[in-house]
Amino acid sequence: MSSGIHLIFKAGERFTTTNPANGQRLADYAIADATEVNAAIARARQAQQWWSQVPLIRRAALLRRVARLLNESKQALATVITGESGKPMLEALLNDVLVSADAALFCATDAASVMRSEDVPHHNIALRLKRGRIEWEPLGVIGIIAPWNYPLSIPAADTFAALVTGNSVVLKPSELTPQTALALEQVINHALDEEGLTTLPRPVQVILGLGPTGGQLVEGEIDKLIFTGSVSTGRRVAMAAAERLLPVTLELGGKDAMIVLDDADLDVATSAAVWGSMLNAGQTCVSVERCYVQRKIYSKFISQCVQKIQALKVGPGADQQTDVGPLITQRQLHIVEQQVDEARALGAIVQIGGHRLPELGENFYAPTLVTDVDHTMSLMCEETFGPVLPVTPFDADEDAIRMANDSDFGLASSVWGSTRRAEPIARQLQAGTVLVNDLISGFAVAAAPHGGVKHSGLGRTHGRLGLRELVRPRYVDVDLMPSMKKLWWYPYAQNFQPMAAFVDMLHQPGLLARLRASLKTIPLLLRRRR
Ligand code: NDP
Repeated sequence: MSSGIHLIFKAGERFTTTNPANGQRLADYAIADATEVNAAIARARQAQQWWSQVPLIRRAALLRRVARLLNESKQALATVITGESGKPMLEALLNDVLVSADAALFCATDAASVMRSEDVPHHNIALRLKRGRIEWEPLGVIGIIAPWNYPLSIPAADTFAALVTGNSVVLKPSELTPQTALALEQVINHALDEEGLTTLPRPVQVILGLGPTGGQLVEGEIDKLIFTGSVSTGRRVAMAAAERLLPVTLELGGKDAMIVLDDADLDVATSAAVWGSMLNAGQTCVSVERCYVQRKIYSKFISQCVQKIQALKVGPGADQQTDVGPLITQRQLHIVEQQVDEARALGAIVQIGGHRLPELGENFYAPTLVTDVDHTMSLMCEETFGPVLPVTPFDADEDAIRMANDSDFGLASSVWGSTRRAEPIARQLQAGTVLVNDLISGFAVAAAPHGGVKHSGLGRTHGRLGLRELVRPRYVDVDLMPSMKKLWWYPYAQNFQPMAAFVDMLHQPGLLARLRASLKTIPLLLRRRR
């Protein structure tokens, strides 16, 4: 295997993972075929029967244990995550381990209020002798298909939400990061053992393999799918799900805009732009993919960003001095390179970077800042997913809003400047999350809903809205007068006029008119019902 390439190959029924920083082989795994995927779903279905009977208070206790175990294993987990994904250890620690532990605690504390049944008041007088309630029940088996870029925090947050609401899970991680998913499974199983919940089968089943293994999960007898990944795979998955009316939540790609107003704190905004575009080598669904800067501060903004990019240390994620690691694969590197090269050919100016760093390894690309870009370039329209910050100036606030909204995507956006100006602008941006004077962190707020508009996806994960997507309402209605037949049952003969009076009694304006109408309803009460 050539060094530096994060190669995946199918050798018979197995696939191999490698370290994206140096091309070293990590491990190989058996590919789950259709029979094994269906067997995992069947085990999850069986597990859901006992798991859903575990009281919510114990399911919450389990997730508290999970949070503790995640903390206890943070070093080991960060090492596995960095080995598979290439990201700096600090990012693995914060954006995967900490975000996952926060998600577990959030689910443990907030699920009770989401699962609590609700009274449904009856407004119509004829229905007052009934008591209605909405109860929430788990959906059953949740399929989770996860990407490689946040290989712990994305599947973990979805898995915890599914578990606390009484569902079981079949998780298909990316073929690039299976070890992280197995580590998550191990933490959950350990917590189950500690909690004395040792019944088999386990409520979380992990299936490993390539794309077709995920495709098999979509075809399987699951009750809901949470898919996180690219728009193109998401569309394929949604079409397959539509065939069988399988509900899906889609967390897809982004082309997030950052708008910097001329009253922003320049030092803060430039640090944010650099971090927001280079974090995880730009391979973050909510990373800064386009930056619009007000003309008055534009040239200073560029020079400060270039200085800060120059200071970044690029290297293997396992080196604790590293700021920016490698790209995940050669394929990803080609996409980044192509977009930058195309922009350059169309007149864009690469202020810094814009090339590979072969001396570090085959997957390294220099942190890059590009100016003189416009929306004819794929760099400004398609997801780049690399360490590239394209910046362009704007004059009026309306221009920035128009350019930011000129995108097929709508995951997150940020606006920088005085809150007086920035907040109204943020509200006009077409995105699932808008941040003022911050970026990316919305994903880390366990209580905040995460999801996009337009091609960035359907539905929400995280927070109370994410929990709600994993339960279905059952309306339970109890009549308190079981010996009384209803006035609106058969026979209908001679009932129309008294019933019209009944409608008047409820809805005619004026008290007197309503009283008069009520007298005309008396025949209804005297009539015998079948
Ligand atoms: P992909 O769409 O390539 O893959 C996502 C998952 O789908 C992987 O587990 C993959 O398996 C699986 N898969 C591939 N083909 C199929 C198929 N036919 N049926 C079912 N599942 C399949 O995305 P990436 O893994 O490359 O992730 C990067 C993308 O994810 C970016 O576009 C990014 O923006 C997006 N993303 C969105 C987030 C959000 O919250 N909105 C968060 C993080 C990332 P395998 O890897 O084995 O091929």
